[in-house]
Amino acid sequence: MKITDIHSHTYFSACGADKHEDIIEAAINGGIEVFGICDHCYGIGDRREEYCRIIYEMKEKYKDRIKLLCGIEIATVPGLGVYDPENLLPDFEYCLIEHIDRPESTVGEDIFEYVKHFSCKTGIAHTDLISMARSKGYDPTEFLRKFAEADIFWEMNVNYDSIHGFNEHGYVRDFFENPETQKIVRDSGIKLTVGFDGHRVYDYAPERVRTMNEFIANNGFNVQEF
Ligand SMILES: [Zn+2]
Ligand SMILES: [Zn+2]
Repeated sequence: MKITDIHSHTYFSACGADKHEDIIEAAINGGIEVFGICDHCYGIGDRREEYCRIIYEMKEKYKDRIKLLCGIEIATVPGLGVYDPENLLPDFEYCLIEHIDRPESTVGEDIFEYVKHFSCKTGIAHTDLISMARSKGYDPTEFLRKFAEADIFWEMNVNYDSIHGFNEHGYVRDFFENPETQKIVRDSGIKLTVGFDGHRVYDYAPERVRTMNEFIANNGFNVQEF
């Protein structure tokens, strides 16, 4: 198992601020082995080439110390989303899709069709998929299995920072503590990965990332490899 954090933001996101080197070195110092930079699609905007060029330069610079990944977080609410994923994605190694549980999401349950346009690995960011299933009257194991079958991974988002008011994600806490939830996730076969969703390097808590990576690896869950 490689200690993985696939979700961090830089100054390319309006809500972020950090330079690449600063967060990469914080990840190295925190024992992270695979680290994904994953700014918002609407922050990257028309700077996609610059965004990817910087990350690919960083990959080379740090290649002996950490494996870096070039990602993008894709919004699915009106005005912020990406409607032509086929043209957007060739440079990206993965994308995290957010907001699919919101009533105003432009994708929602069409996620299984939507991701067919993506040539890179795709996952769901910080979304309580089990509550989403229950709110629609679906069996959660069956609902998660659809993601497994579509090869869509699920982020366990261990964020805990000032930008989000030091609020933990309830679905992650539930996954960590509730054997019934763990059985649903395990039985569904969905692949998991871990993201901190860092927005300020001074808030980074790599021990939370390590703990969740180890929990997933040691308890029989499927892991998304990068
Ligand atoms: Zn997000
Ligand atoms: Zn994010």
